[in-house]
Amino acid sequence: MRQLHWFQNDLRLADNPALASATVADSLLCVYLLPKPRPWCNLTGLGPQRDRFLRESLQTLKVDLQAMGQDLMVLEGSPELVLPNLVHRFGIDRISTSDTPGWYEKKAIRFLEEKLPRLLKIFRGPALFDSEQLPFSLEDLPHNFSPFRRKVEKLTIPGPLAKPAAFPPPPSAQFDAIPRAAASPHPGLPLPGGSAAGLRRLDQFLFQTHAIADYKQTRNDLDGLAGSSTLSPWLANGALSVRTVAHQIFRYEREHVANESTYWLYFELLWREFFHWRAVVDGKSLFKQTGRQGRRLLTTFEPRQFARWCAGDTDYPLVNALMRQLLATGWMSNRGRQIAASCLINELGLDWRYGAAFFEQQLIDYDVGSNYGNWQYLAGVGSDPRGGRHFNLEKQAAQYDPDGLFTTKWGGFRPRQPEHVVDGADWPISEPS
Ligand SMILES: Cc1cc2nc3c(=O)[nH]c(=O)nc-3n(C[C@H](O)[C@H](O)[C@H](O)COP(=O)(O)OP(=O)(O)OC[C@H]3O[C@@H](n4cnc5c(N)ncnc54)[C@H](O)[C@@H]3O)c2cc1C
Repeated sequence: MRQLHWFQNDLRLADNPALASATVADSLLCVYLLPKPRPWCNLTGLGPQRDRFLRESLQTLKVDLQAMGQDLMVLEGSPELVLPNLVHRFGIDRISTSDTPGWYEKKAIRFLEEKLPRLLKIFRGPALFDSEQLPFSLEDLPHNFSPFRRKVEKLTIPGPLAKPAAFPPPPSAQFDAIPRAAASPHPGLPLPGGSAAGLRRLDQFLFQTHAIADYKQTRNDLDGLAGSSTLSPWLANGALSVRTVAHQIFRYEREHVANESTYWLYFELLWREFFHWRAVVDGKSLFKQTGRQGRRLLTTFEPRQFARWCAGDTDYPLVNALMRQLLATGWMSNRGRQIAASCLINELGLDWRYGAAFFEQQLIDYDVGSNYGNWQYLAGVGSDPRGGRHFNLEKQAAQYDPDGLFTTKWGGFRPRQPEHVVDGADWPISEPS
């Protein structure tokens, strides 16, 4: 049997059931298709840091595969076009891939299932639980986080699978080098891509620094690495398996201490899990302004306001610093994301989807369920039982950046801009000279 493994958000060798299924094949072709995000909200392409993190992750995966006599073929193009072509060229009998929750990705899978009947096998995706483990059917998935958490938090999480001992050889093919990214990691927040870096960070946050034991107190820090785990980039592209992270938390609790903070890190993984399953169930409505409830919002669109928010050049210094941190590093803390999103939605009165699309382009931890789910939550069209959040930006700055150190560090204090810009050329009357 000739198998093709289509890597998506599962860029690792261990705890990867779809890849493990290839160990019985006679040959294995490993493929990754570079994402070409659909043009959406006037934005195209990946931000430089997101592109950089992805390429580093792929490079590490390629080296890991090569060490086992395998290789990784990285191509551009849509799965609907490229995969049938590869099937034909290499006489593939079976395609394995890991499940993804997003509506557009599922649409591509449905197309391939029709085009290549019985070839495609879908395995567990980036979730903690298997769907059969959930104590409710997906149609009855709770609308809000708390009832979801209460129902699932005591479920057993199966242990992560070990890395396979060997893989079948690749077919003879051309495996080109992966072009290096133009950007490099920001020295102030160096987050390199790849499984090894993700595992190092996990070990550092738990067993080396014991930062997990104070996480509940520090998790709202605005700068990464200092307060929260910063594991999201590796979790998002699957360089780290969420089951591995959960089991390391449990190990830490057995070997060191189990307290409110250690529980809280697991609690946050349950938020991720909630948004994952909501994305599966909500489908296309995750991208609708009115959300799954069809709740109408009053927004205007002012391109200049949006451009200023994206560039970190608004009248709100803390928001500017956060957006500049995002542009420079590809990451922003959870508190920062809430503040920046609330500003776009409430102060600037813009359509939340533009903010979500910009985050999608820039975040090195972009994850469809967590990104769109959190934006909908804040805009009041998603899972917030309170119907949306409006943060008082002055209070947030006083509480989370009282001395303005973060705002200064990331260049948030900007000269004030005029509110309206009128183009003199359009002004019809000029004074006679
Ligand atoms: C507007 C907005 C957009 C967001 N977009 C994304 C996104 O695209 N990708 C993404 O991974 N997270 C997203 N989040 C959630 C959260 O901000 C990040 O997961 C978190 O900041 C990552 O930092 P960390 O790894 O240090 O988190 P920690 O605080 O250390 O949490 C550990 C892990 O739990 C999960 N987690 C924590 N908070 C949340 C949350 N609110 N929702 C879902 N999962 C959570 C993440 O996997 C995270 O790595 C978004 C939040 C907001 C408000």
